[in-house]
Amino acid sequence: ASFGFRDVPRAAKSGLVRGVFDRSARRYDLMNDLMSLGVHRVWKDIAITRAGPRPGAHLIDVAGGTGDLARAFLDRAAAMQARRGGPAASAVVADINAQMLEAGLKRGARPDLGWACADAEALPFPDSCADAVTIGFGIRNVTDRLQALREMRRVLRRGGRFVCLEFSRPATRALERVYDAWSYNVIPQLGEAIAKDRESYQYLVESIRRFPHQGAFAAELEEAGFARVTVTNLSGGIAALHTGWRI
Ligand code: SAM
Repeated sequence: ASFGFRDVPRAAKSGLVRGVFDRSARRYDLMNDLMSLGVHRVWKDIAITRAGPRPGAHLIDVAGGTGDLARAFLDRAAAMQARRGGPAASAVVADINAQMLEAGLKRGARPDLGWACADAEALPFPDSCADAVTIGFGIRNVTDRLQALREMRRVLRRGGRFVCLEFSRPATRALERVYDAWSYNVIPQLGEAIAKDRESYQYLVESIRRFPHQGAFAAELEEAGFARVTVTNLSGGIAALHTGWRI
């Protein structure tokens, strides 16, 4: 399948969500490293392993931003291809915010990676076209989560994998206390100092608190039709990986 750069009309969820990413796209990577002390790279690595990179596989990375997950998937698949041959893998980053996509493109275009300006709730891709769908730190921002989950299942082929990486709930009280102090105090301050945008990072922290806990979100995946849903806590539940299959 080949995907071009397409604009999908939609009513924006809220000006605030769009604004968060418009304003911070350039400093976004730096902020991620600072906020998570670099651990988000390890989480993303684990997510990619679960997405099953391999020669010939096609990935759709929804809410893919600047394309971290998609590039990692393609690099892993290319390393396998170099060892054992087979066709090249391909990926498309679908994100609602054109500035994020542009920032991603500036990092270097590559022939195996496409970019699509699209809403997770209405993906501009045919049914059953992808071997894997990932969404990293994106589902939290979607208005109609169930609709987005259904869309991500729709574009997966039978036997395809869905992998969602998202902030979640610390599993112990002790960790929760440290985490609360970090997210309520340090993150908004970092947002002010680095991204000059305290409000957006305050919003980020609140949206993490509002997001359903591990079990409730797993139930949503099942409601959307995913099979064999699994949950894996990362860093004691600060983040979690939810996976499911389309069967
Ligand atoms: N996946 C990337 C990563 O892990 O670095 C980017 C994550 S960033 C925190 C969240 C992304 O979700 C932003 O790029 C934003 O534009 C995108 N986004 C928010 N709402 C969306 C929607 N309804 N459909 C598609 N993308 C959306």
